[in-house]
Amino acid sequence: MKEWIPDRPVSSGAAAYHDAVVDAPYYIQALEALAERAVPFMKKGQTVVDFGAGTGVSGLQLLKKLKSQLNLWLVDNSAAWLGKAHDVFKDEKHVNCMLLNKHGDIYDTLAQTTGKNKLDHVVSGNTVHLIDDLQGTFKGIYEALKEGGNFFIESGNIIMDDLPEGALLIDGTVQRVHDNCMSIIKSDPKFAEYKKDLLEKEKEQEHQRKFVFPDPRPLSHYHEALQKAGFTCGESAYHLFKVKYDEWLAFLRVQRLQAGILPEIGGHHPTEQQAKDRDEIITRAAQELFKDLEQNNALADSETFTIVGVYIDAKKEQKELKGKTALVTGASKGIGREIALELARSGANIVLNYNSNAQKAQQTVEDIEPLGVKCLAVQANISSRKETQKMANQVQESFEKIDILVNNAGIIRDRTFEKMSDEEWHEVIQTNLTGSYNATKAMLPLMNQGGSIMFISSIVGIYGNVGQANYAASKAGLIGFAKSLAKEQGKRQIRVNTIAPGFIDSDLTRTIPDEVKKKIEEAIPLKHTGLPEDVAHAALFLASEKSSYITGEIINVNGGLTL
Ligand code: NDP
Repeated sequence: MKEWIPDRPVSSGAAAYHDAVVDAPYYIQALEALAERAVPFMKKGQTVVDFGAGTGVSGLQLLKKLKSQLNLWLVDNSAAWLGKAHDVFKDEKHVNCMLLNKHGDIYDTLAQTTGKNKLDHVVSGNTVHLIDDLQGTFKGIYEALKEGGNFFIESGNIIMDDLPEGALLIDGTVQRVHDNCMSIIKSDPKFAEYKKDLLEKEKEQEHQRKFVFPDPRPLSHYHEALQKAGFTCGESAYHLFKVKYDEWLAFLRVQRLQAGILPEIGGHHPTEQQAKDRDEIITRAAQELFKDLEQNNALADSETFTIVGVYIDAKKEQKELKGKTALVTGASKGIGREIALELARSGANIVLNYNSNAQKAQQTVEDIEPLGVKCLAVQANISSRKETQKMANQVQESFEKIDILVNNAGIIRDRTFEKMSDEEWHEVIQTNLTGSYNATKAMLPLMNQGGSIMFISSIVGIYGNVGQANYAASKAGLIGFAKSLAKEQGKRQIRVNTIAPGFIDSDLTRTIPDEVKKKIEEAIPLKHTGLPEDVAHAALFLASEKSSYITGEIINVNGGLTL
């Protein structure tokens, strides 16, 4: 990342803004609260960007709260403002500036500026409400962050539900000052000369005014843009800050800022008289507002009013299976589909095996592909050694190796033992037990060192069940199979584990009559049946490094039914 060095003296506008806010308690408190949220996540030596660093006031608050040394990059799209920040931090060895370059009307994204996957955290105070293309900007931030990186946002111009009555958005007060200014110009003969064409001018200047003090957007708008950019949003919060009337008036009276509050008089280059009149009108308008607040606002008193700062935390989730490939048998629907989705969400490429349901398999592929991983659907009846070997050849062609094998496909053919036919016995054993043998036999040679193999057994494989001798035998067989394989494959660092689900909602259990289901639910300590997602979460654990010292184990996913 290359440091930006200013090529001109600090602009007077940026210096004026800096001076207006650098000691203003409400401004500092809002940024301190942002730093307090972010700093606990920051570790020594990490790289952090202050996005929309402006004149460096937010950077100062961050440095004050930091407990260890890290590299802080101040990023802004305005050379004038960043020039002031550069001046403020010129003696800080670990703080550098970086400018977002502009091409035509469009600024470079953060990732285009810093490079992808470079940053540990991004912090942004008092900036996001000024951004039009939120999704594009957030995407650039997402790409610039490393996996597991955080994005902490603060803004005083976001609409949040359920705020206490009387809490104001700071930009909203500027709008009210502007409206009061217009009434003063219209009614006071002293300012008659500005009355001419006032409405046209107001319309003409609206864009400039809203550029500096934009209309607020709801919190949901930001959440949506963050999620579309790839972020996971955490809890949002707000803080209330007291603003003294005289402090706020001092801000409103900064001459360079008055062009944003009342551009209708003099715009950016007022004459001396216009500047004087504009200052008088804004001062009177602000005093009118303060009087109104004092009398009518629940959170205002004779010296202060209350503003709100909204805080949003977002995360670029760590994709712990990135670069890995997983094969899940029987993944067209039910538990297998959910396992495939969960592994894909964590970054694994997926080979999705199915037998008869091409349409559902295709639907699962379509749900997985937008997650940004490769997904290959392969039809193969796992009870056939030949078909599973053909599947392995296809996998080798597309992915060469695999890292995770989930033996999930299974069927039931329930009947009490005396009535059970030979076909019913053999079909279940051939699919559930021999099928898992076939898939493992074909795929094991393609497994990378450090791989993970799972068998989806069942509570029935441990405890047995009336009408399920064939199924129980197949599922108990898987447990012995897994433990033996775990002992054999340990030397290759391949772990082999079993998941034993209890009662999980899927097509397999949908035919169970409601009254039987109700009885089962009563017997389950957690008082409800499980979802395919519950099994998928256990599968993700066994697939990931988090279980790297676990092999030959059985994980029960049954709501406590076996207690
Ligand atoms: P579903 O019936 O919803 O799904 C079964 C899946 O297995 C389908 O994708 C099906 O593919 C596939 N399949 C079946 N036979 C074959 C075969 N010969 N070759 C390849 N694929 C095959 O069942 P669940 O999702 O509920 O069950 C998944 C696993 O979890 C099973 O092993 C089951 O025994 C086990 N389990 C389930 C429990 C539950 O309560 N649901 C409890 C305990 C264990 P297709 O549709 O394309 O034929």
